[in-house]
Amino acid sequence: MIIAIDGTLASGKGTIARRLSRWYGLPHMDTGRLYRATGVAAMNKGADFDDPDALAEVARSLDLNDYEEALLRTAEAGQAASKVAAIPAVRAALLELQRAFAHQPKGAVLDGRDIGTVVCPDADVKLWIDASVERRATRRWKELTEKGETLSLEDMIAQLKERDERDRNRQDAPMIAAADSVLIDTTHLTIDAAVDKVRAAVEAVIAQKPESSGP
Ligand code: C5P
Repeated sequence: MIIAIDGTLASGKGTIARRLSRWYGLPHMDTGRLYRATGVAAMNKGADFDDPDALAEVARSLDLNDYEEALLRTAEAGQAASKVAAIPAVRAALLELQRAFAHQPKGAVLDGRDIGTVVCPDADVKLWIDASVERRATRRWKELTEKGETLSLEDMIAQLKERDERDRNRQDAPMIAAADSVLIDTTHLTIDAAVDKVRAAVEAVIAQKPESSGP
């Protein structure tokens, strides 16, 4: 069973993906990590962010073991990720990796921005997770300030809007809900309530597709 989870930044999709992966015993890929690692690698190498070929080469030679989680989670890494993610050659370089992961014998859970539309248009279950900009910015701001980053909530809201806009308006694989996805708004939900809702949605989809019911 392939579960595709897409949605906006800090909508809760990562936590939901991890919980579903545990619940159904499926491997999980956080695809944003690929773009974050590419962005950080490009910064470390001093690559020109206006040179698509150089950035695609960085994506092709990526070794994910080179990056500590904390380094990839900074606001700066997120901004760099969304810049490199707008480049078609970078997306192409990372596509097969994601598809191969999804098509393991048992299936997988993948979360990102284009899983249901581009990476796995054949996914058994597609979810779109979203929440208001204010709610998402507050969540991410708390997370980052607890880790010692110093930025104001206003700056966080501005950054989030900028990233949403870049992700939504890029030409290749823009961030958009797949037409056949189940929409979940987490603005007023605790993470436990959101996971319950998502699980109910997944069960409903599985019940309609008996041939894909086993994880
Ligand atoms: O989800 P996360 O914040 O880690 O993603 C970082 C950036 O990577 C996003 O803003 C987006 O530009 C890009 N991304 C993408 N496609 C994906 C996953 C992430 O374009 N499947």
